[in-house]
Amino acid sequence: MSTFAVVTRKVNDLVLTAIPEDERLWVPQAESVWFRPLFLNTVAGEWVNLLRVRRSGVLSRHRHPAPVHGYVIKGSWRYLEHDWIARAGMYVFEPPGEIHTLVVDDDVDEMITLFHVSGALIYFDAADNPCGHDDVHTKIELCRRHYTAVGLGEDFVDQFIR
Ligand code: FE
Repeated sequence: MSTFAVVTRKVNDLVLTAIPEDERLWVPQAESVWFRPLFLNTVAGEWVNLLRVRRSGVLSRHRHPAPVHGYVIKGSWRYLEHDWIARAGMYVFEPPGEIHTLVVDDDVDEMITLFHVSGALIYFDAADNPCGHDDVHTKIELCRRHYTAVGLGEDFVDQFIR
């Protein structure tokens, strides 16, 4: 007879509607740019979110020290440093290391992409000087501030945190 006991499940699963009906779930990141948190992993230092953009032009110059995976749900976007365009239905793998410049073109009314980001995004100015960063902890802070401001409460984000 086995001496092993059944191990109690310690980590809760997470099943939710990705594009919410409640607009308040979208957290403002910049002018006409929002993210919708799906999974905020404070143990491994990674997050999964939807990025929604309703303006054109340069969104950010950044580098990631770890891989990024993207799935484009609506609209399109590209990096100035590459000749491909990520369009609705496409999957994108971004290897770590390079500084690249995210742009949405004029003919796109709205872009929504699911991103799985490990580690961090480090932002750079036009002269390649670092000027800020995001990681799972800054994302949680943005969520807490926003969800407090819209009446959902700072604890609302806890459901996405593991
Ligand atoms: Fe990137």
